Amino acid sequence: MGVRLVSVAVPAPLRRLFDYDAGDLDSARLRPGVRVRVPFGRREQVGVVVEAPREAEAGGFDYRPVTAVLDDEPLLDAELLALCRWVADYYHHPPGEVFAAALPAPLRKGGAVQAGAKQNLLRLTAEGTAALPNLPARSAALRALLEKVGDGALSRSTLLEVMPKSGAAIRRALERGWLEHVAAEPGAASFTAETPPPLSAEQAAVLHELQSLPEGYTATLLEGVTGSGKTEIYLRLTAQALERGRQVLVLAPEIGLTPQLAERFERRFGARVASYHSGLSDAERARTWMRARAGELDVVVGTRSAVFVPLARPGLIVVDEEHDGSYKQQEGLRYSARDLALIRAQRLKVPALLGSATPALESLHNAATGRYRHLRLRQRVFAAAGPRIGVVDMRAQPLQHGLSRPLLEAVERHLAAGGQALLFLNRRGYAPALLCHDCGWVAPCPHCDARMVLHRGRPRLLCHHCGHVTPVPLTCPDCDGSELVPVGQGTERIEDALRLRFPGQRVERFDSDRLGRAGELQRLLDDVRSGAIRILVGTQVLAKGHDFAGLSFAGVLDVDQALYGSDFRAMERMGQQLTQVAGRVGRAGQPGEVLLQTHQPQHPMLRVLIERGYPAFAEALLRERRDFGLPPFAHLALLRAEAPQEGEAMHFLQEARQALPEATGVEALGPAPAGMQRRAGHFRAQLMLRSTSRAALHRALDSWITRLEALPAGRRLRWSIDVDPGDLF
Ligand code: ADP
Ligand code: ZN
Ligand code: ZN
Repeated sequence: MGVRLVSVAVPAPLRRLFDYDAGDLDSARLRPGVRVRVPFGRREQVGVVVEAPREAEAGGFDYRPVTAVLDDEPLLDAELLALCRWVADYYHHPPGEVFAAALPAPLRKGGAVQAGAKQNLLRLTAEGTAALPNLPARSAALRALLEKVGDGALSRSTLLEVMPKSGAAIRRALERGWLEHVAAEPGAASFTAETPPPLSAEQAAVLHELQSLPEGYTATLLEGVTGSGKTEIYLRLTAQALERGRQVLVLAPEIGLTPQLAERFERRFGARVASYHSGLSDAERARTWMRARAGELDVVVGTRSAVFVPLARPGLIVVDEEHDGSYKQQEGLRYSARDLALIRAQRLKVPALLGSATPALESLHNAATGRYRHLRLRQRVFAAAGPRIGVVDMRAQPLQHGLSRPLLEAVERHLAAGGQALLFLNRRGYAPALLCHDCGWVAPCPHCDARMVLHRGRPRLLCHHCGHVTPVPLTCPDCDGSELVPVGQGTERIEDALRLRFPGQRVERFDSDRLGRAGELQRLLDDVRSGAIRILVGTQVLAKGHDFAGLSFAGVLDVDQALYGSDFRAMERMGQQLTQVAGRVGRAGQPGEVLLQTHQPQHPMLRVLIERGYPAFAEALLRERRDFGLPPFAHLALLRAEAPQEGEAMHFLQEARQALPEATGVEALGPAPAGMQRRAGHFRAQLMLRSTSRAALHRALDSWITRLEALPAGRRLRWSIDVDPGDLF
């Protein structure tokens, strides 16, 4: 007996597709890319048809029928479908979970979403312009809103992103006739785009090169120091794509960076710009996804997951701050959005542009070997030379809460001169350890090989690895001693110390504890720009893309922490962070100053970075990577395992190693316990595969994973495969 079968990707942790009986459903309805409801186990699931129905022998097997077809037209076009299948293959991940990751939640759950709903922009009316200078002091929110809109036009959604809580002010301004809606479709007379600034000579040369590239896929690395006008290049290329009727996808590494970027695109190109990130509601994301698919949007600005947004008329893909580690997803489907952007551009036959002040070593290597074109912007637009970078040798310094005297004096000097100061420390909390002065006990996390971090505010001890929280003990649990002292510094402690040292100056902390609430970051950034905040203390949040015009000083409080990171990428990250922090300084005409606190002022890599800059530093690191056979000179895949019982993960990995197919050119390293062996109550270990040939590595993975799935030991614990791992822990 024959049967018509259809292959469906069903969200389940299994690396395979599932066949269903197509029954008498018309093949024209079961086209690849259409969502279907199918029985799965004892439940129903929404899956995606991956291949057209085919005639097959039932072979006595009782295939279950498709319950319902959810789309009249394929929701995923051929390109996105092929991309998802490629991702499942390359990352050796269950295909159903890949499709689920590509779809916004409402669509994933089987819902229907209308693209529709054109956006209008808001613009100042003549009355609004007249009212602005006379607004009373108590109308601060209204004034800020009108000033923000300025002589341009912005959508309500972008305004709400860059000025959270401006909803009421927008309503009032509309009621009073100070703001009006304007349609901002291409060619609409009501929308005047901002006039682009004339390009600098360097920018013009770069743009000219980019515009003379052949049609189709090209990959370009745009290495440009912070403030050199990379974004302006993105805008010009976007303008060109839009003129040709094409769409542009722009990726940014962080939610916090998308609003400003979306704002810049919207001011220039009008309402057919939308952002896509996890800070938006599911409904908004789904609508943007559908609008991009329908070709109703010209520009989508988004974070990692936006790489899966469908494009009806693709024209250009931009990856801003391409070196950023957050492009790599660290759990579940461990994809790199930067790498996928390139794959997608290649398949769509459109140019890809990667921008950064501190390109990833992988990208520099690709440029050096000719896979990418390498363009550079060496000068800042506002012609200030880069900041002076000095080192404070901590060995000889008395410290106040980790702050040396030269550093404090520099802050004082810059504040007195009207500048703003940024202090960078990549450690949240008050102190990274709580120590008993009598017996040396240090508060441990009961579930991890880690110390509990002391937080103030609502005082507590918090594990940064598993989230375990306890009250702060009053006495030592070991010796009953009562002298428990915080050791070391976190951002909270630095914030306190600076408030005491600089009374009357507004100090604000920027880290994920402080910026938890949506919109908090945008609100604080506004206060930095207005000059209300004088001193910024923060983690990597501050090292990324934000534009602080008045910043004249940056201090990096603990360089050593990064010099001795255990990961092979730690040094690269250190160089990128220091360069990015330094790049925030002195943008508006003055060169500014940077001080680095370290106990290793003679560290050779630190010297190279300071004396010869990031390009020379990256070159030195690349030589090291070559000598050690590390990426980009080799390709890695990591098999991670974790189990509640000690030894189980190692045992599984030893069996896994035995099961490794005889493969030439693939080397297995380990297994070895993870850097932090116990986390959240699980013992973790890993086994690494390495090869100079990507193809050989993937061939080995293919047959190996099938064997791993059959290993009984593997069923009793959690394991995962990480292709091109970001971190090895
Ligand atoms: P990057 O992305 O390289 O950090 P941006 O594109 O954000 O640099 O440019 C930095 C600042 O300089 C921005 O405020 C931008 O508006 C401005 N800018 C960029 N290009 C020009 C130009 N050609 N003329 C005047 N201002 C410019
Ligand atoms: Zn004690
Ligand atoms: Zn813990």
